[in-house]
Amino acid sequence: MGYKVARPELNLFEKSYVPEILKGVGVSSRHFFRNIFGKKDIVTVEYPDVKPDYAPRYRGHHRLMARDDGTARCVACMLCSTACPAHCITIEAGDYGDTDVEKYPVKFEIDLLVCVYCGMCEEACPCDAIRMDSGIHTPAQMYRKDGRVGKVDLMALGDLSIAKQGGELK
Ligand code: SF4
Ligand code: SF4
Repeated sequence: MGYKVARPELNLFEKSYVPEILKGVGVSSRHFFRNIFGKKDIVTVEYPDVKPDYAPRYRGHHRLMARDDGTARCVACMLCSTACPAHCITIEAGDYGDTDVEKYPVKFEIDLLVCVYCGMCEEACPCDAIRMDSGIHTPAQMYRKDGRVGKVDLMALGDLSIAKQGGELK
């Protein structure tokens, strides 16, 4: 069963598209002159010469936090890599031996070109070891392999965490 779509009746002038072209030129001209004479209305910025202030809740480049002794707070529990919907976190665990903190990440790598910046990793982390509050967005990369950021670089962006490892003991 078919439907007949009623077409509007157009006169010869309208069929020539001249009115619609004039309307389009009018809209373009309005934006053109507004951008030239009314710069305060422009919401875009001339990045990278001008950088916008990021909102406090902005999720940017990841960083790995450290303990007081400078070691990574990460205990290689794999919760972040399990929670990550993009499967872009690679962790290899090492063993400290007979200490309170059993494991540490021998390798901790995030593929920033696969990451979707959802924040699930920092939500899942029980140790305040990974954060996305660096205020830095993903840097541009020339090569695909440069998107993989390792533990040393992630810790260089990190800082001492004031959270108590494992939470307060009662
Ligand atoms: S922000 Fe999301 S996608 Fe990116 S590493 Fe964390 S969990 Fe994975
Ligand atoms: S960053 Fe946090 S969640 Fe991820 S492995 Fe380390 S301790 Fe576990």
